Amino acid sequence: MPFGARVFTSNVDGQFQKAGFAQHHVTECHGSIHALQCFDQCGQEPWSAADFRPSIDEESSLLISELPCCPACGGLARPNILMFGDWNFEGRKYEQSESSLKTWLARTSRPVVIELGAGTAIPSARHFGEELGCPLIRVNPTESDVGLHRDISIPLGAKDALQAISSTLRFGS
Ligand SMILES: [Zn+2]
Repeated sequence: MPFGARVFTSNVDGQFQKAGFAQHHVTECHGSIHALQCFDQCGQEPWSAADFRPSIDEESSLLISELPCCPACGGLARPNILMFGDWNFEGRKYEQSESSLKTWLARTSRPVVIELGAGTAIPSARHFGEELGCPLIRVNPTESDVGLHRDISIPLGAKDALQAISSTLRFGS
């Protein structure tokens, strides 16, 4: 597609990047397990968790290696993930990512949202797609209802639906 594609996800596992999407094309509204932040919010920006290699006791499921530390203040580090009732989540990076996603959307001609497996229990991704005001294809095996006539409901799993959409489209000339 001439304008490409972007990802907005509440997943925190980094699988879109692993599947080949550029980091700057993925907005992770609930943060990422691949980043750490200072527990005490000393002002340190979140940093990559790549150097943290936890050792776990398989019997007790407890961490047996050192806890991760903030590189600035030496205090405890925590996952840079939005938890329930979490007022200490450092989310500026993700807010900036959402802002640049909206800038890209404003410049994009005739965008379409393909929503994959966004449930109603934690509806962050569902609300984001609905509020953009563009056509929505909702793919969900159990919660695929759409509210508007122009939107499309596909009650399938993501892989089956994407393969079906792809097989009906012809790209290029
Ligand atoms: Zn700190």
